[in-house]
Amino acid sequence: MSHIRPPHNCNELIKDISLMLDGELDRHSENILREEIDKCSTCKQYLNSHAAYKKNVSQKVTRMCCGEDFKEALRSKIRGL
Ligand SMILES: [Zn+2]
Repeated sequence: MSHIRPPHNCNELIKDISLMLDGELDRHSENILREEIDKCSTCKQYLNSHAAYKKNVSQKVTRMCCGEDFKEALRSKIRGL
């Protein structure tokens, strides 16, 4: 797996932003991604709107679940969006 990134490409970054919001990116990739996001208002806007949306969903899921596999349920719920 290569971490070399092409020139700024919002569509590619948006995929990575989704992964980041799902907690799938390691810290290094997340730092690189955040630097890219900082340079681009489109990506920033995407991150802001989706972070808020996912947070909202997480809170709903939190109210629904209290079992052992709560984290897994939360994950798959968010991933299904
Ligand atoms: Zn962008």
